[in-house]
Amino acid sequence: MADLIRGLDPARVRVALAEVRETVGPAVEIVVATKYLPVEELPALREAGVTALGENRAQDLQAKHGAQPDLAYEFIGHLQSRKVRQVAPLVRRIHSVASDSAVTQLIRHGRADLELLVEVNIAAQEGKSGVAPGDLDAFLERLRGAEGGEVAGLMAMPPLATKAQDSRRWFAALRGLAADRGLRHLSMGTSQDFAVAAQEGATIVRIGGRILSPRG
Ligand SMILES: *Cc1c(COP(=O)(O)O)cnc(C)c1O
Repeated sequence: MADLIRGLDPARVRVALAEVRETVGPAVEIVVATKYLPVEELPALREAGVTALGENRAQDLQAKHGAQPDLAYEFIGHLQSRKVRQVAPLVRRIHSVASDSAVTQLIRHGRADLELLVEVNIAAQEGKSGVAPGDLDAFLERLRGAEGGEVAGLMAMPPLATKAQDSRRWFAALRGLAADRGLRHLSMGTSQDFAVAAQEGATIVRIGGRILSPRG
């Protein structure tokens, strides 16, 4: 686990954000992944022009939303079904719907304007969260029937790679799955591979370190 980030410099974050923007182009949403950023740093983040935050844990989300409710929050972490009730009212989008039990909870705690993305285990890796590509149609059908939100797209974390180019095939595969099903959002690409993800059609990138960590 990385250390928490302290002493965020808004000017520096603003430059990093502009660099990412330059790479991905004007149409791609940049969600800043803030799991290593403590609540106290949110004013600096806001000052830097960041508007959309991606949170991984329900507890952190509650704390941050409580302290800085004027920012837009999205949930990008593993979605435990018992946390849906806490998470859903505080976010505009959940990137990581992936279990039947979460769908059941979304029926109760979702709402019409909540955007839902299904996390896909795009490389069918053992023990990794996400719906297997072969199970995607059945899962989407259940989720659409649940009316816990608007089913808007797909998300994936490709297998760990040393080179960003190694992720290209997985991004392309996710794009194909979304296109075949008429889903408009593709949440893919992190600090190390967002440029490749954008080339492959990402509509949302989720970036932490590249924007928040001081770099030499
Ligand atoms: C942390 C995280 C990111 C961002 O990763 P970085 O390497 O810091 O850019 C994106 N997506 C998810 C689900 C994450 O947990």
